[in-house]
Amino acid sequence: MTVITRFAPSPTGSLHLGGARTALFNWLYAKNQGGKFLLRIEDTDLLRSKSIYTKQICDSLKWLNLNWDGEIFFQSRNVSKHLKFANLLLDKGLAYKCYCTKEELNKEKEIALKNKVPYKYSGKCRNLKKSYNTEYVLRIKTPKEGFITLKDNIQGIVNVEYNNLEDFIILRSDNTPTYMLAVVVDDYTMNVTDVIRGDDHLTNTFKQIILYNALNWKLPNFSHIPLIYGADGSKLSKRHGAQSVLEYEKKNLLPEALNNYLLRLGWGYKDKEYFSTQEAIELFSTKGIGKSPSRFDAIKLKSINSYYFKKLTNDQILKKLKPEYSYYNKKKISQLIDLFKNRAENIDDIEEGLSYMCNDIVKNISEDALKLIDKADKNIMIETINKLEKIDFWEASNLEKFIKAEVKKNNIRMFDIAAPIRSSITGKTYSPSIFLVLEKLGKEVSIKRLKNNYYLKDNER
Ligand code: GLU
Repeated sequence: MTVITRFAPSPTGSLHLGGARTALFNWLYAKNQGGKFLLRIEDTDLLRSKSIYTKQICDSLKWLNLNWDGEIFFQSRNVSKHLKFANLLLDKGLAYKCYCTKEELNKEKEIALKNKVPYKYSGKCRNLKKSYNTEYVLRIKTPKEGFITLKDNIQGIVNVEYNNLEDFIILRSDNTPTYMLAVVVDDYTMNVTDVIRGDDHLTNTFKQIILYNALNWKLPNFSHIPLIYGADGSKLSKRHGAQSVLEYEKKNLLPEALNNYLLRLGWGYKDKEYFSTQEAIELFSTKGIGKSPSRFDAIKLKSINSYYFKKLTNDQILKKLKPEYSYYNKKKISQLIDLFKNRAENIDDIEEGLSYMCNDIVKNISEDALKLIDKADKNIMIETINKLEKIDFWEASNLEKFIKAEVKKNNIRMFDIAAPIRSSITGKTYSPSIFLVLEKLGKEVSIKRLKNNYYLKDNER
């Protein structure tokens, strides 16, 4: 039988790390089994669902290369089937009309609260013989005795007594299906064989099993993944440095890095850290998913990103640069990429370097760089600039030889001259070798930047 998994987000927000990991695990499992990975948009909550979120979720999945098979399945388009099966359950006497009013239910809730027991619908309408012409909801008849045994691939065997579950609603009074019914009917309609989702759905699963059994449908395999928490053990949020997939994309994180990070968040294979897509597909199984919750670690994500970044070719980096760099000579930009690549951990580091290499002026001078410029011996700097202006062979090793001679002659440290030069020509306190930077910048621009800091009066800078 073909394995069919699905990712079923509600379009009420953009894709977050937890959802992305669920999608990744479903995608990998389907690929591992030679099966299919489907996408279902659970858009039945008309008030909170927005098409912009559907688009964002789809774009994020595509960016992560988690492409789904076939057309997107929209839950809202399957409502006629939801209704059909709800009515079938009613006809078979496995569901019933409940006419209880809000007031009546509130009274039941108050009593439960007073008795300090968890609220559960009393089943007052379960055995009504007559139909009434008033508003009603449809409730499933939860068996009275026995228990449900869930064999979860991750959580193991979990038993729940029917007695702890109520006759829950499957159709609201406005004739719309509840989430519980819609999910089961959709998974059945889509021939889903494996449901892999967050363990916050575990309690829903028991209710859904009641529906599967009532409809006489085969249960899919269930895998409930422990959730992701922040480093402090609380629910993951922005506070922990976690962002939406869209935000990571905007910040130039590499999708392969995010996938690798999410893969290792809760799943492992021996002590292997890095997985190519092919390796992940081959090695993935739900057995490797741990039972305990995982903790988000922004530093780890950054270091994985740096690992993948260092593998990129210049051409790949070129494609990821801001569009403004496409106007420059490709060969020149590629040479500059070589200059920065060794020290760079991400695209931003490259762009930071390019920004002072590709503009006539240094746009931003950091405060620390300004301090180094001011601290330098002005006479030595001006003398050095004057001499530099006379150098014809503007090449790194020649420039290095010259500066070293100046250091010796003035009896100062290399830092005393190299640091203010660096700060003047880059606006930063760090950069690749200043001799290389000087060479690549060219004589004219370099001298102009140096003069700008040492020839002009403070108020002219
Ligand atoms: N729409 C649900 C959610 O976003 C997922 C339902 C499911 O996976 O069964 O949490």
